[in-house]
Amino acid sequence: MHSALALRCSACDRTYDKWTWRCDCGAPLNFASGPVDADAPGSDSNDSLPTEPSEPWADTNAGLWSFEALLPVDAHVSLGEGLTPLVGAPAWDAEFKLEYVFPTGSFKDRGAAVTLSLADELGVDRAVEDSSGNAGAAIATYAARAGIDAEIYVPTSVKPAKRRAIEQVGATPVPIEGSRADVTAACVDAVESGDAWYASHAWNPAFLSGTATFAYELCAQRDWTAPDAVVTPLGHGTLFLGAYRGFRTLRDLGWIDRLPRLLGAQAAGYAPIAAALHGDDAADGDNEIADGIQIREPVRKDEILAAIEETDGDAIALPESAVARGGDALYERGFYVEPTCAVAPAALELYRERGVVAADDDVVVPLTGSGLKT
Ligand SMILES: [Zn+2]
Repeated sequence: MHSALALRCSACDRTYDKWTWRCDCGAPLNFASGPVDADAPGSDSNDSLPTEPSEPWADTNAGLWSFEALLPVDAHVSLGEGLTPLVGAPAWDAEFKLEYVFPTGSFKDRGAAVTLSLADELGVDRAVEDSSGNAGAAIATYAARAGIDAEIYVPTSVKPAKRRAIEQVGATPVPIEGSRADVTAACVDAVESGDAWYASHAWNPAFLSGTATFAYELCAQRDWTAPDAVVTPLGHGTLFLGAYRGFRTLRDLGWIDRLPRLLGAQAAGYAPIAAALHGDDAADGDNEIADGIQIREPVRKDEILAAIEETDGDAIALPESAVARGGDALYERGFYVEPTCAVAPAALELYRERGVVAADDDVVVPLTGSGLKT
């Protein structure tokens, strides 16, 4: 750690100076101190931070660890991840950040690298995670790199390629019958009843510190100009909230002038944020192909809604048909992604139709997961 471990509850402000995976009140925790006010309002800032973006943004091969000064841990566990390509996507009148160009084929490696680096610092022997696939593969892979045992709770319906990705790096998949929520419940039972460390992409604040590097890289690649809007898939909000924290950190440091609008893309039938903003009817429908974001109760729902409020953002739900069409359009132009990832470009189209995004808005869309693992 760059400083002593300190955690603060996202709901009741209670603080902890020892690792615990959630507050006694049941809400998720954030880092209360650290290199920057990245994680929680009222965090202690650190005067030693670079005042110019060029200082940590050195011309090195450090990947996302180029931004180590903005991260809560040093790079203990790394596979050279980060600095994903930012490419033009004229057919969408946007730029795509190719987040599927990662060691395990998804942006979840950002969070896994920082989370397992923290686990290594804390001397963890055994980590657990629950996941529909990508986060599980990322945690399993970085646990292997760290020499830490991992058990990954997955739905019995998990895609075989994702299960294989977990098994082949020596982690143990634990298949659970029932809904995605049942999988989480079984994993939480294991955390509560044993000595396993919860490397959860939804709960663990280190994971969000990692996904914040999406914003750092993006702004660095754009010469420290934030786009007008960023459209991301939105389930637990792992990338959405990480991006928000990252952009906010850069704005607070004065490296960018303003926050981009954060626009979420949810799966119809699993769209609690769209429902909270626009009513239940707006979230109705069917989308079984965007399996990576089928989350009915996001752990950090209040934080997601606050991020939308602060950035003049939004969230909408996409039906299966729009995502299937969006996926085909991506393949035709050489973007070999997984179906969940297609919700975001499809949402951009809908946001434009509805006038939420203006014709001349400068928009970035992350393509979050590779088609090779589906
Ligand atoms: Zn609390």
